[in-house]
Amino acid sequence: MNIIFLGAPGSGKGTQASMLSSELNIPTISTGEALRKEVEQKSEIGNLAKSYMDSGKLVPDEVVVGIVKNRVSQIDCANGFILDGFPRSIPQAEALAKLVRIDRVVNFEVSDDVLIKRISGRFSCKACGAVYNRYFHPTTQPGICDKCGGTSFESRADDKEETVAKRLTTYLESTLPLTSFYQKKNLLVAIPSVEGAPLVFSALITALNISSQPN
Ligand SMILES: [Zn+2]
Repeated sequence: MNIIFLGAPGSGKGTQASMLSSELNIPTISTGEALRKEVEQKSEIGNLAKSYMDSGKLVPDEVVVGIVKNRVSQIDCANGFILDGFPRSIPQAEALAKLVRIDRVVNFEVSDDVLIKRISGRFSCKACGAVYNRYFHPTTQPGICDKCGGTSFESRADDKEETVAKRLTTYLESTLPLTSFYQKKNLLVAIPSVEGAPLVFSALITALNISSQPN
């Protein structure tokens, strides 16, 4: 099964991709990684991509899609693949449709409010790196790390609420056309996000019509 995963930053899409990868024994493909490999291997398309990057230009959609096509033609994709975070625009989706068969497009839906809290609420212990969320997963005792007892915490500058909201708006604006593009093709599956990766995963399995293997 050839699957595309769409979802805002913080939607838990990455976790679901790795869970589904091991369930179906198919790889998750990141275009960034595939691009780096082609450049490293100095393949024809890799060199072409590099020429754009070296002159500070964006790698054109046809080149990126060509790289995706090469990647999904590899043997480990024989039973399918998960494309994580690609395409990002209608031109990319159209170029992709010409080269690769897509069976399902999964959109991980999360309410803006929850997303903002998930990302902007994140903080971590300076001493041991343990990650918390001030809304969903605070320390057991305020100001004290559960793991190491540390009392200094930090949050990333780009996790500030305003920055997150801005990132999210940009994301939604660019993705809305994509979800309707795939809806028209009857490929779109919407997975409403709930708390807990296992619950989201069982909704995903049901929606994709896969029978989960009991371990
Ligand atoms: Zn700690």
